[in-house]
Amino acid sequence: MTDIQPLLQYRQRFFIEHSPVRGDVVRLSDAYRTVITKKNYPTAIKALLGEMLVSASLLIGTLKINGRLSVQLQSSDENAPLSWAMAECDHTGQVRALAGFKNSDEWQNATTSRQAFAQLGQGVLFISIHPERGEAYQGIVERVSDDLAECLAHYQKQSAQIPTLLKLATSDEAAGGILVQLLPQTDADRENDPDLWERMSALTSTIRADELTELDADEILYRLYHEEQVAIPEASPLEFGCTCSAQKSEGAIFQLGHQEALHALDAHGGVLALDCGFCGQSYEFDEKAVNALFV
Ligand SMILES: [Zn+2]
Repeated sequence: MTDIQPLLQYRQRFFIEHSPVRGDVVRLSDAYRTVITKKNYPTAIKALLGEMLVSASLLIGTLKINGRLSVQLQSSDENAPLSWAMAECDHTGQVRALAGFKNSDEWQNATTSRQAFAQLGQGVLFISIHPERGEAYQGIVERVSDDLAECLAHYQKQSAQIPTLLKLATSDEAAGGILVQLLPQTDADRENDPDLWERMSALTSTIRADELTELDADEILYRLYHEEQVAIPEASPLEFGCTCSAQKSEGAIFQLGHQEALHALDAHGGVLALDCGFCGQSYEFDEKAVNALFV
């Protein structure tokens, strides 16, 4: 007999029944640890990457697309300790993330994602959506504070006109979050339950960071909304996954041009190795392989 294993990493959709409120809870453990151990990240950047991974996993759940959504930070200040960071999730639930940073004393006492975000200095937060079919879309997120959740919730409200609550948290072991949205209400909805959103906001604000990283989604939902009627469909699995490939590496070498590629080959002892920062996979090309690309 085989038991059904509970998912350890997932996005759990929920609905408040007979109301226009919906939401998702996300929990990441292995995928988050895989990401933060790929580089020697300062503590604060680990926290920020965890929150970005959870955000991407939550936000793609609000879209009906096949493709991927990424949350990105890009500094325009070349001396900023945090140069850039990005996290993405696709519709199959594969997540990955990476950040570029400078070693700086600023990291010594920084532990929170807010502190990491502040080290971007001048720079932008944006969301990009890459559908498998159709055009990519990029939206600049107003930096209303150095709190990622606050910025993204503000963006949802401004850009999509959908009131949104967003809470994100990380620990050493896990990253988690919850997103709650008020979809367009009918007059009947409003009459039925005039303080619905106020109540949801008050309840959701009581969730603690340790609850988001330690509790299962159904425990979180019970803890927050046990006086509401909550519908909980089947959860969607999330896992670490990378979209790098030998083909993309070939494309990058092809972009160099034949002569440049041969020079680079010479400079690296006859083997060009392209390493993927996200997953650590190395793609190697010798002279024969490089020449074959330009036939
Ligand atoms: Zn990779």
